[in-house]
Amino acid sequence: MKQSQETPRSQKLQAMRHSAEHVLEQAMLKLYPGLMMAMGPAIEDGFYFDFDFSGKISEQDLPNIEAEMKNIIKKNLPIRKEACPMKKARELFNHNPYKQEWLDEIEKKGETPTLYWTGSEFVDLCAGPHVASTGEIGPFKLLTVAGAYWHGDENQKMLTRIYGTAFETKPELDRYLWQIEEAKKRDHRKLGPKLDLFVINEDIGKGLPLLTPKGTVVRNEILAYEKELEGRTGFQEVWTPHIAKSDLYKRTGHWDHYREIMYAPFGIESETYVLKPMNCPHHYMIYASRPRSYRELPLRLSEPGTCYRYEKSGELGGLTRVRSLTIDDSHILMREEQIDAEFELCINLVLAMFKAFGLNKYWVRLSLNDPADHAKYIADPKTWKKAGRKLEEIVKKSRLTYEIAKGEASFYGPKIDFMVKDAIGRAWQMSTLQLDLFMAKKLGLVYTDADGSEKHPVILHRGLTGSLERTIGLLIEHYAGAFPLWLSPTQVIVIPIADRHHSYAKKVSASLNDKHLRVELDDRPSSMQKRIRDAELAKVPFMIIVGDNERIKGDISVRTRGKADLGRMSLATLEKKLLKQIAEKR
Ligand SMILES: [Zn+2]
Ligand SMILES: [Zn+2]
Repeated sequence: MKQSQETPRSQKLQAMRHSAEHVLEQAMLKLYPGLMMAMGPAIEDGFYFDFDFSGKISEQDLPNIEAEMKNIIKKNLPIRKEACPMKKARELFNHNPYKQEWLDEIEKKGETPTLYWTGSEFVDLCAGPHVASTGEIGPFKLLTVAGAYWHGDENQKMLTRIYGTAFETKPELDRYLWQIEEAKKRDHRKLGPKLDLFVINEDIGKGLPLLTPKGTVVRNEILAYEKELEGRTGFQEVWTPHIAKSDLYKRTGHWDHYREIMYAPFGIESETYVLKPMNCPHHYMIYASRPRSYRELPLRLSEPGTCYRYEKSGELGGLTRVRSLTIDDSHILMREEQIDAEFELCINLVLAMFKAFGLNKYWVRLSLNDPADHAKYIADPKTWKKAGRKLEEIVKKSRLTYEIAKGEASFYGPKIDFMVKDAIGRAWQMSTLQLDLFMAKKLGLVYTDADGSEKHPVILHRGLTGSLERTIGLLIEHYAGAFPLWLSPTQVIVIPIADRHHSYAKKVSASLNDKHLRVELDDRPSSMQKRIRDAELAKVPFMIIVGDNERIKGDISVRTRGKADLGRMSLATLEKKLLKQIAEKR
């Protein structure tokens, strides 16, 4: 679970949802005796629980389960915590391998198991926290039923997962339910293939999305804007291959701290290679390729670099969780006194991207290390403290709203992770800026300072929007597929009313094409109404209709997506309007 410094309000909500989850378990046990409880947390928007049982339930059963939950809530049963010796806990759950596995974990950490009783009727192994009694659980709703592999691993048993949520007030719950309905309509996993933006092909493999020509336009437009911004601010683009020797990753520490996410190494002749899980080491080697002077710093290397990460199949989803992801990555190698200015520069770049995407609600999560977690982080408490403090100072100065997430840092440094809210109010994690005071020293990267001494540079890792795949997924949902003009794969469709208007329509298309506008000519024999409808379905922002009147007068009729007729105008007028709109990223 993510730990973050939460407001008392969100802590209460968390406790309430967690308690609702226990009530769900209790209700399920009553309705389906013999099922086995696996595991379930309170999550960002609610809670879920995984059950192991042979019966089948579907969404039609949810109202019945909810009714039973309401009974339990109405009884206002006290929820009581009890510390329980390991031996007793083992016995209490002796029939349940899932709980035993959890007890193993607790034992490994040397902790004492805690139980939570609901009244005297129901008990579960749980770390809490909970509300004091079931009556404190606010309006709740069960949402969906899904199959879920234990630990998300498809070699493990398939469990039945029930998702639900709870809120403090009814309007908040209603808004959330609206959001879910709206999200279904915008689901990029459906809209993406429907709008011919990307496909996932079983012969290629799971988590390996293929961008179609249209999807690639969206990707290229994002990258082109990034390059434009970077070009103005002194970034230099590089290109690096997708594999490297595994020894390099041993030296960087990825091997020790990041191995779970890396694919198995493979041999080429007598050498061992891996697919790159991050772009950093490749960029470091460019830096290290020749002696560097302080005058060259900051050196801002940038690359849309594709990385490969081991994600369990149960956790993959469309473009948002993939096995091959392209990070719009940069590594800035700099002197320590340049940290503030470089972070400010990168924060401004991130905000410029958000503005272009119409993402107006954002905040940051300051992800720090957990000093107690020795396995996850490079051991050097003093440097961690220094990096964390510096980053907090930067965030404060930036006046961005922030929360602290302990234990969410990268293994080499703390980070500023940007969170955004999309058009329907859902939160997404996007860009990341990371301060790394370790890696240069670890790899022996140096520069010669003004006084002739050798020093290690400091590194800023920057994912401008994060993963391009994820960003495209987010944008499909944020815009419900109706991209603004600058991102639209097809910007204009030209529709000739009848055959005799084809040559005029072709002339119109050619002129738009000359102006670098993305135009399609729809000269299919179907009716004009049908072709307008199809253009609407394809979410094309502008439609040009030409018939006798237009041909004779030498002008065009224009319609916009989802709106009315713009009427007749000259082609030059429209072209000017479109180019202006594109330049302004509208
Ligand atoms: Zn619990
Ligand atoms: Zn990096």
